[in-house]
Amino acid sequence: MAGLLEGHIAAVTGGGSGIGQGICQAYAREGARVIILDINIDAAKETVSLIVATGGSASAMKLDVTDRQACKAVATEIATKGNISILVNNAGINRRNPMTGDAVAVSKDWDDILSINLDGMFNVTHALLDQLRATKGRIVNIGSIQSFVHVSWPNSAAYTTSKHGVLGFTRALAAELGKDGVRVNAIGPGLIETRINAEARAKNPEMVAMVMRHTPLNRPGKPEDIAGPAVFLASDMSAYVTGCIVMVDGGFRTV
Ligand code: NAP
Repeated sequence: MAGLLEGHIAAVTGGGSGIGQGICQAYAREGARVIILDINIDAAKETVSLIVATGGSASAMKLDVTDRQACKAVATEIATKGNISILVNNAGINRRNPMTGDAVAVSKDWDDILSINLDGMFNVTHALLDQLRATKGRIVNIGSIQSFVHVSWPNSAAYTTSKHGVLGFTRALAAELGKDGVRVNAIGPGLIETRINAEARAKNPEMVAMVMRHTPLNRPGKPEDIAGPAVFLASDMSAYVTGCIVMVDGGFRTV
């Protein structure tokens, strides 16, 4: 049986690790050619190896999503081999210094988090927009439970602001690009066990316990939990879905 993404070329930022890696593997399994864009080229190549070892098609390109010119150069290079029809804006970082903490640290957090999580999303999307419009493509942005605010969740101003921005960007682009046949959606992961939160989980088990007390499915998620919804939003199965955020959070935000 043909895969759900047969014939598609998918670019995934931050595909060298965690959620992005899980999405790359799932897209390849569904027949897409996957291009992994990551600041960490060794990690991106590792994802390529995992995909190729299981018979899929993938390639890696080094990209810092904060570098607007580099995003344009990568888009030009991709276009020489074929237009992408799926873009997953997944690259992101998190730090949890409180606003009331050290002024230098909190200012650096703000600059770094906003430039990667939000400006980076703009840079990559804008660079690949012509390709996505030409293919009537699909954009999947990785938001968060922190695209909303909940008192039980360990918030931080910079990350929460960036992920609210991801949701705003998703809705605005869906409204603008619908006429071109481009669909734009987001995924809102809950606590997913990846490198981004490995230190926080190790150092602060009470944080995990607090989140789990509010999570009906009563377990942290894994990258493969995000992969299914990401396939859905990239495939024709979601042909009439745009401008929405699919929460993949074990029920955290629902109850
Ligand atoms: P991860 O394992 O740290 O993966 C993030 C990837 O993005 C890494 O390969 C990282 O490279 C790369 N990256 C960082 N800065 C970059 C840049 N400037 N340009 C290109 N690539 C860059 O984290 P993850 O948990 O999979 O996170 C993926 C996305 O999910 C993020 O947007 C995150 O905010 C979101 N999210 C995660 C959770 C969760 O609980 N895990 C929950 C909600 C939302 P390095 O090797 O340099 O780190």
